[in-house]
Amino acid sequence: MKPQEPMTDHPFDHPPDQLDSRLEQWCQEQQQPKFRSKQVRQHLIDQRIYDPSEMTSLPAELRQQLAEGMLSSPLVVADQLNSTDGTIKFRFMLADGLSIESVWIPTDDRGTLCLSSQVGCAAGCTFCATGTMKLTRNLHPREIVAQWLAVHAITVAQGLCGVTQVVFMGMGEPLHNYPAVSRAIDWFSSAQGFQFSPRRITVSTVGIVPKIEQLVHDHPQVRLAVSLHSAITETRNSIVPINQHHSIEELSEVLVKIRDDSRRISIEYVVLPGINDGSEQAKALARFAGKCGAHINLLPFHPYEGALYAAAGAAEVGQFLSLVQKQYEGSVTARRSRGLDIDGACGQLVLNNLKKPTATDDTEPDASKKR
Ligand code: SF4
Repeated sequence: MKPQEPMTDHPFDHPPDQLDSRLEQWCQEQQQPKFRSKQVRQHLIDQRIYDPSEMTSLPAELRQQLAEGMLSSPLVVADQLNSTDGTIKFRFMLADGLSIESVWIPTDDRGTLCLSSQVGCAAGCTFCATGTMKLTRNLHPREIVAQWLAVHAITVAQGLCGVTQVVFMGMGEPLHNYPAVSRAIDWFSSAQGFQFSPRRITVSTVGIVPKIEQLVHDHPQVRLAVSLHSAITETRNSIVPINQHHSIEELSEVLVKIRDDSRRISIEYVVLPGINDGSEQAKALARFAGKCGAHINLLPFHPYEGALYAAAGAAEVGQFLSLVQKQYEGSVTARRSRGLDIDGACGQLVLNNLKKPTATDDTEPDASKKR
């Protein structure tokens, strides 16, 4: 694993309640008057601008100092792909040249942002493009928060609704990078941060059991999604290798323990034809979901080059949906594919970019897209 990028002075890497004192101290060190710290705060929090070059009420020299120091940009947009169904996929380049992706998905009056929490992923789920990359490094809180601010600003500027929901379902297993994810959630939702409702935030995990309890303790209002994909040990071991460390039984136990009427747990289940879509699988899934009163969300498999599995068509997903509905009294839905024309599978855009020959590799992000 690549060594962690060093922590910076960037305020998003530190607790939100330290923002004012950090800004004041920084202004003092730069021999700037105290009121400048309030102006920076206004831009950063009230206007959600993280790029100092856009903080137009500040003198140019101060903007420059901020850009080179405390507010140096955590990421820039390297690619933006627009799907015919309205989904937008972003590839961001981080300060050390690595890439991550975020996806904005519109539904009715909502805009859901799928965030990345790591570069690559160590969980190695066998249906996932990101899983094939292994883990390069964890993201810092500033790199997580900046994805949100960038996508919100870009989509609002296009006359769209911006980000109304956040899901940690992009590259990486969020509970493998819990400290940074937790800090980013603090920034999204706290009174000193962006005051975004925590009920609009979902953390999706493949089942890192000890961290699930910690997440629920630290962020009781945040929603939890569990990527199950099979409730039968042998099958799940082959699809989600982490199951060999945190078994289905352990996972079930912790979900029953944290079950609470005010917190909806979702079970995510990618339908893989011939692998996890038989009647025994449906029965096991219903049993598992019943214990923790979860909502079941069936997802089509997004194929990518070199994928081990075939895509599930609407008919196959529909067939499995009926099997599950016969077994389960709780709610079950089937989600349709989004953004298939723009490298729709998680990690696919970054993976495809990594495969580009070096000579054509656009390692210099398009400055016109820089935020
Ligand atoms: Fe990691 Fe999620 Fe992909 Fe599994 S599905 S390898 S946890 S990014």
